[in-house]
Amino acid sequence: MTIADGLARVRARIEGAARAAGRDPASVKLVAVSKTRTAEEVQQALAAGQSAFGENYAQELAAKAEALSSVSGPEWHFIGHLQSNKARIVARHAQMIHSIDSVAIARELGKRVAREGRAAPLPVLIEVNVGREPQKAGARASEIEEIAVAIRAQDMLRLRGLMTVPPAQDHGAAEECFRALRSLRDLHGGEAMLPELSMGMSHDLEIAIACGATIVRVGTAIFGPREERT
Ligand SMILES: *Cc1c(COP(=O)(O)O)cnc(C)c1O
Repeated sequence: MTIADGLARVRARIEGAARAAGRDPASVKLVAVSKTRTAEEVQQALAAGQSAFGENYAQELAAKAEALSSVSGPEWHFIGHLQSNKARIVARHAQMIHSIDSVAIARELGKRVAREGRAAPLPVLIEVNVGREPQKAGARASEIEEIAVAIRAQDMLRLRGLMTVPPAQDHGAAEECFRALRSLRDLHGGEAMLPELSMGMSHDLEIAIACGATIVRVGTAIFGPREERT
């Protein structure tokens, strides 16, 4: 299966799920998760009409963004755990950050983005560890408000919504997690304040779309299986 085939299948799945949920397919944005993939593979996806790409590691994002800097189009989304010492790199290359999970990182990032001299504020999401899994990144639900306040205090960040990664491979648990994220959004100002819900990956994007996802982050179903880092 080529990357173009993978993309076509994923787009068809998104469209089917949106229609089944009575939603406009255009209300769901596809971020192609390109972690561990080469710049060449990203270019193949670009040629097949995909423009948004997700990366988990700051250095890898910088390397690919630089390799493709002469190519028009790629829009980079940072979806990995964000550490303070990597905030500068991410501030320079990302067009959206999905993974703000503390007041400290919101402040550091706000400062770094301001120094980059961007024309417009950087859209960001708060990552929530809905399932309260101990090893997982993401803020607790009880921390959303203070992180939202910290983000809104930064002139060069714009809070757009919430993101979550559900417990692995269990559709029932994923649905519960997506519903919970949506409820948290409703609790913290609703769609007017937090229009984006970034949730749903290769194996559960239909469930996420049924639960209101506006952004799905899909890797394997587009690019094929990857060798996971340890
Ligand atoms: C890797 C990753 C994805 C994509 O997962 P697939 O199962 O390959 O679709 C989505 N979101 C995050 C945060 C990831 O790390």
